[in-house]
Formats: sequence, C-alpha cells, structure tokens
Amino acid sequence: MITLERSAAEKIRVLVLDIDGVLTRPELVLGKDGEELKVFSVKDGLAIKFAQHAGIDVAFLSARSSLIVEHRATMLGVTEVYQGEHAKLSRVRRIAEEHGIALDAVAYVGDDIVDIESLMAVGIGVAVADACADVLGVVHHVTDALGGRGAVRETIEAILRTRGDWDRVVQDYIANAS
Ligand SMILES: [Mg+2]
Repeated sequence: MITLERSAAEKIRVLVLDIDGVLTRPELVLGKDGEELKVFSVKDGLAIKFAQHAGIDVAFLSARSSLIVEHRATMLGVTEVYQGEHAKLSRVRRIAEEHGIALDAVAYVGDDIVDIESLMAVGIGVAVADACADVLGVVHHVTDALGGRGAVRETIEAILRTRGDWDRVVQDYIANAS
C-alpha cells in the first residue's frame, strides 16, 4: 500500500510513467513475424484520465520504442511520450524544466534498474509490486498491484485521495461523461 505525505502529494504536477513492467506486464508478446503486442489495464487508463482532470500532466517514458505506446498515448490524450531514452533521469529533469517545476513536483512509477535514478530524484518515487529487487530496495513507496495490473491506478488514487481530490475528480468526470 502507498501512504503519502499530504504535502508531497499536493506538490505533484507531473506523473512520469515507465511503460514495460509498469503500464504493461513485464512480458513481451511476440508474433511469428516479430510483431510485438502489449496489454494495458483499462483501470490504469481511467486513472490517467482522472489525473489529467485533476491538473496532473502525464508523460510516458521508455527505454524501448514501440508504435503501440504512441497509440495508447493517443487514446488517453497523453502528449508527452518519450521512447528510446536510456538516460531516463536526464529526460525527467528536462520534463520538469519544460513544466517550470522542481523535481519534487514530479511523481514517477518504475520497475527496473534503469528507473532507480529517477525514482530517487523525484518527489514521489513509486515501484510496482513486482519491481526488481534493486528497485524495491531503494524506493519508499511500493504498490500492492503488479505492473500492468493496476499499479498506476493505485498510484494515482493514492496521490488524489491524499490531496482530498479523488471524490471531486470522479464526480466531475462522471458528470461530464454522461
Ligand atoms: Mg520497465
């Protein structure tokens, strides 16, 4: 379970999400012609909409590269998509600069060694339940949910509930969707 300080949650303006192992299960589905498929959680997707509705910008950041990620981003209205980026902390710093915010206004969800620097540098660094041991050894916040199985939903809910925004955001979303 994630327990956040209210002051830390209230600072968050940008949520940076790793893709493989965070928004998806840590598995690649490959077809015989090498085509790759990814499975995303609709619960995570709705939570991303809630985060945006609450004024938190969401960015996707992956060391790998796939058109599938562009498609998923388009579906969710995520316009900040960074792929093929191995120096993830450099990108996170640039994202913060572009938003005119400090790193403590960034939340990051990751699962593997390439995420550790970023997880340690931001205001709220979250590991998914099945993150690698090196990640679990350094982060303060670990979800109950697995990567690709609601870990992003759990993170966003924790941030919005801690801020006291969750009920309002859900009500607004339902009212505007109907
Ligand atoms: Mg990953």
